[in-house]
Amino acid sequence: MCETYREDSEGVARGLRRCAPGLVQEYRLDYFPPYRLGSVRFICTEPYFHHHRTCHHLQTHYHVPQPETLDEPRRSKDDLCPICLDRLIKKKQLKCKHTFCDECLQASVQHTGPMCPVCKDVFGVMEGDQPDGVMTWINSSSFLPGFSGCGSIMITYTFPNGKQTKKHPNPGQPYQGTTRTAYLPDNEEGQEVLKLLKKAFDQKMTFTVGTSRTSGLDNQVIWNDISHKTSKTGGPQSFGYPDPNYLSKVKEDLKAKGIE
Ligand SMILES: [Zn+2]
Ligand SMILES: [Zn+2]
Repeated sequence: MCETYREDSEGVARGLRRCAPGLVQEYRLDYFPPYRLGSVRFICTEPYFHHHRTCHHLQTHYHVPQPETLDEPRRSKDDLCPICLDRLIKKKQLKCKHTFCDECLQASVQHTGPMCPVCKDVFGVMEGDQPDGVMTWINSSSFLPGFSGCGSIMITYTFPNGKQTKKHPNPGQPYQGTTRTAYLPDNEEGQEVLKLLKKAFDQKMTFTVGTSRTSGLDNQVIWNDISHKTSKTGGPQSFGYPDPNYLSKVKEDLKAKGIE
């Protein structure tokens, strides 16, 4: 996130702004060669920046490596808001100590949920747009490859057909329901992951509505970036076991959504 900005002689802020994890929006690089972190003129086009008069449009997203220092809260006597780059108006401070204008923060929350726009610290209960459905599981004595010392847990997610709400890509249109099955080892770590998956499901984060990557069809209930093993066997290529990295991977996926 932009913590290294300053204003040039025309009063235009320069810097870098991260608008999503790993993405920085920037523009008019040619005005400031050579390109260096912290000396780039940028403007963000996210909707919540539109109230600010220095907003412009741009076409390109660049991936920029992010030094640790960009995550340090800026402390200056002017106390600028890292979203609008202007003086803080009705300052709000999060528990991570980053501060924002009340209006800027509210707009960010609407856009990306209750997550600090600077350090991604989650400060509330994140809720996704998963449609209505049911999660159930049963324990079985059959083991999974790589976990021969314990049984397994079979999770079933069931979603009936329904109608998309305004959170979904095509509000008012129907979506196709689905039934999905996933497997965990029935050991201590597997049970811990099950609890986290249940929490993710209850926070409507496990599925979303969109275009299926496998069938290419629109208006489907689809996975929402939390890894699941939908097969008992076949290894990682088949979304199955054995996969010694799976339990730590799924915990990382969940942590990225504020669930840990
Ligand atoms: Zn602001
Ligand atoms: Zn923060």
